[in-house]
Amino acid sequence: MSPREAREPREPRVHTAVVIGAGFLGLGTAIKLREAGIEDFVVLERADRVGGTWRDATYPGAACDIPSLLYSFSFASNPGWSRAYSPSAEIRAHIEDLVDRFDLAGHLRLGTEVTALAFDRSAGVWTVSTSQGEYRARAVVAASGPLSDASLPDLRGIEDYRGAKILSARWDHDVDLAGKDVAVIGTGASAVQIIPELVRTAGSVKVFQRTAGWVMPRLDGEIPQTAREVFARLPLAQRAARTALYGVHEVMATGLVWDTPVTSLIQQVGRLHLRLTVKDRWLRRQLTPDFRAGCKRMLMSSDYYPALQQDNCKLITWPIATLSPDGIRTSDGVEHQVDAIVFATGYDVHLEGPPYPVTGLDGRLLQDEWSGHPQAYKSVSTHGYPNLFLTCGPNSGPGHNSLLVYAQGQIGYAVAGIRAIVERDLRYLDVRKDVQDAYNERIQRRLRSTTWMSGCTSWYLTADGFNASMYPGFATQYLRQMRDFRISDYDVASHGARRLWAAGVAAV
Ligand code: NAP
Repeated sequence: MSPREAREPREPRVHTAVVIGAGFLGLGTAIKLREAGIEDFVVLERADRVGGTWRDATYPGAACDIPSLLYSFSFASNPGWSRAYSPSAEIRAHIEDLVDRFDLAGHLRLGTEVTALAFDRSAGVWTVSTSQGEYRARAVVAASGPLSDASLPDLRGIEDYRGAKILSARWDHDVDLAGKDVAVIGTGASAVQIIPELVRTAGSVKVFQRTAGWVMPRLDGEIPQTAREVFARLPLAQRAARTALYGVHEVMATGLVWDTPVTSLIQQVGRLHLRLTVKDRWLRRQLTPDFRAGCKRMLMSSDYYPALQQDNCKLITWPIATLSPDGIRTSDGVEHQVDAIVFATGYDVHLEGPPYPVTGLDGRLLQDEWSGHPQAYKSVSTHGYPNLFLTCGPNSGPGHNSLLVYAQGQIGYAVAGIRAIVERDLRYLDVRKDVQDAYNERIQRRLRSTTWMSGCTSWYLTADGFNASMYPGFATQYLRQMRDFRISDYDVASHGARRLWAAGVAAV
């Protein structure tokens, strides 16, 4: 090493891409980058294991509520799913298996938490600040997902409660709830999976419901060994089964995305499910939703209603006034004393940008610009933040189909963008403002007639009722637009004579 090299720290290497997050989406991006011949990238993950939301979702009963055959990437399918709706441990194992199957280990940087992103226009480089130092890259794919963070809800008196506080998204397995008096706050997608399990082991379970959801029977069951063998030997057979399920979900969009006679039909099925499984008329009334099906996420469970009717379970619909040192006080003046409270109250959904500052062109801050009204083009690119590709970005959410189907479209689009940067030697690729505005004007117009805007409150909407999360259409429409990467939608600047990169090697 020369004396000069010893004195001056070398600029960190400029990678072709940095991918943030090693859950389903980050690993899917890594697989597709490699498939496109792009090897110079790293995947940064704050935890010490891959898996994302499914690494953390270990609550009792955790499972996917979309059929497993659809809850995976078509380019990385799993013929071995044991059940129609797989438990979380199996999903976690599948995600971990992707690392070996697609030889991704060398790209992973575990225990590396991203703290900030900043773009340098003149170099065309993102600086990614992390808990382990800086990374630099020509492109960044933000794949940390919308459900990566969770915290206790803002309930009066929560600090005073002396019993165990358990967050559904971060289950504390050290607390033994067997035989204990337990309260569950929330009756959403996680709660309907947790409650049947708790009722089996706890002494008593009180369920605090704020809003009754639409609950559809979940037709779960084992996938026979013979079918698994056929899927393993004949991938086409698995693809056909997946396509059939995809088609069924697409049909559901006609009732879940838009408020139509199909919505009323879905509600009739929900009411029939309630009538057939809940005997008590008063309980049925308490469990009857007062909003259009699809407005909030549909709940899929065949054992939630039976669990609520067990002798050791009670549904409480009085609003929570405050938590007390011993339990929960409801507005009818009753104190419900419990040993533990399970908060199945949802995630800290990042509708207003990733949970770290993102600084784009001319010092603009994504979190400021997105405050209230997040916007992107095709949910992946956002004006002013060149070479940045979002997964699960604004208006990318499915209301009726698998999130991974949509994510696959986003990953393909991001990789097409990164290929354009590399092949055309671009300094930056920034979506045009007029293109983004026109796209969002169309999206917001189409959203007006959807079920999500039919009057309920949900995490799909920002505090002022702006829908920044859902895509108003069929998955097929979404995927078609994502296959169409048009360079003319972008302002581009090439390096021209100033070639700073030599095939992803160090910047000078
Ligand atoms: P969620 O669906 O948002 O449900 C949260 C529940 O807590 C709701 O019933 C909500 O009532 C209630 N709640 C929130 N704050 C409250 C408060 N301060 N006081 C009283 N009640 C309160 O959250 P989640 O069950 O964690 O699910 C979140 C998302 O995770 C789902 O929408 C889904 O996308 C995903 N998920 C997926 C799966 C899967 O299988 N793929 C499984 C679980 C979760 P209100 O309805 O009145 O707001």
